Amino acid sequence: MTIESIITNVRNGGRVSAGEALALYQHAPTHVLGQLANVIRLRKHPEPIVTYIIDRNVNYTNVCVAKCNFCAFYRDVGSSQGYVLGFDEIFRKIDETIDVGGVQLLLQGGHNPDLPLTWYEDLFRAVKDRYPDFKLHALSPPEVIHLSRLSQIGVADVIDRLIAAGLDSIPGGGAEILVDRVRRLLHCYGKATSDEWIDVMRHAHRRGLRTTATMMYGTVETVEERIEHMMRLRNLQDETGGFTAFITWSFQPDHTELGGTEATGIEYLRTLALARIILDNFDNLQASWVTQGGKVGQLSLAYGANDMGSVMIEENVVRAAGAAYCMDEIEIVRNVEDAGYVPKRRNMHYDVLGDPIFRERAVPRMLSLATARADGAAGEAPDLKPYPARSREGKHRRLRDN
Ligand code: SF4
Repeated sequence: MTIESIITNVRNGGRVSAGEALALYQHAPTHVLGQLANVIRLRKHPEPIVTYIIDRNVNYTNVCVAKCNFCAFYRDVGSSQGYVLGFDEIFRKIDETIDVGGVQLLLQGGHNPDLPLTWYEDLFRAVKDRYPDFKLHALSPPEVIHLSRLSQIGVADVIDRLIAAGLDSIPGGGAEILVDRVRRLLHCYGKATSDEWIDVMRHAHRRGLRTTATMMYGTVETVEERIEHMMRLRNLQDETGGFTAFITWSFQPDHTELGGTEATGIEYLRTLALARIILDNFDNLQASWVTQGGKVGQLSLAYGANDMGSVMIEENVVRAAGAAYCMDEIEIVRNVEDAGYVPKRRNMHYDVLGDPIFRERAVPRMLSLATARADGAAGEAPDLKPYPARSREGKHRRLRDN
């Protein structure tokens, strides 16, 4: 097939094979990839609407045994810089989120051996008791697998218990590249193989949870492996239809063991456009302005993205690796409208909730990103004491503090 015939096929609603996607990526000019992605975006979203969600990205702990070599966020068990947030700290973050019109927490953290499944269940129940309508978009597949291993309970049963406690949806983090060669090189094969990541999502979709899917590119993978990743997501979406959206971002190398240089903005736009072309069964693609900045975020809207993701109130993970872009709702709306689109607030299911909230009522401006703990303090919250720790350090600490 020639590039022209592949383009004609896509324009006519056809699906690309892995080989055709590779040919497009290797040979189609950037603006042509963008135009083709925009054809699919317009087919799915004929109205000139760009959505976004007001939520807060809370990382409940930075202690992690996985030790992915691309991660600058984690701290070892026993590290003096390790922290676990307390329930009250999380409630305060929810209060602040609700103040600016927020509807959910994106709750993710390290694989901390001193946090048993019951801690998560109690946290979710406590959140739902206090904030019945507030949503919990929580625990990426590797965290679910970690809890399954820690508690010796199957993944499906862990998901059931978390749903019973208040889990509303699962974020697609920890996917990196769903190819085991790459995962071994990134030291993330142990936390979840490609099959295991897919399997958690399959279980979640079967239980009726909607989830997102992600891809972190720009480390050691080839373009063929990026395409293989997207094909695996497309296949599962054909099977379950449970993904709401796809989000891709480039590896942020600062302060990581892996190191290296960050992919360019053009590579981001080409990868995003390719995703829009391959993932023809995904309704929504997010612009990753958090890693690319607002200006490339705007351009993303011409390269297949129809959503600006989250108003970032708090961010700890990519900031640790060097990216610290901040946009509150006013700034997101300014960028969306300047690009010629109509901004609308949404929930995790992509139901439109309304116009920008700051046009309905006064909301505090958020001109800098909050952190897990405002003063950067480490340490476990006292309400962890009743929970059994697994690590030697955790057991000693809780015995000493009791
Ligand atoms: S990416 Fe997640 S799982 Fe990997 S080391 Fe960082 S916190 Fe742990």
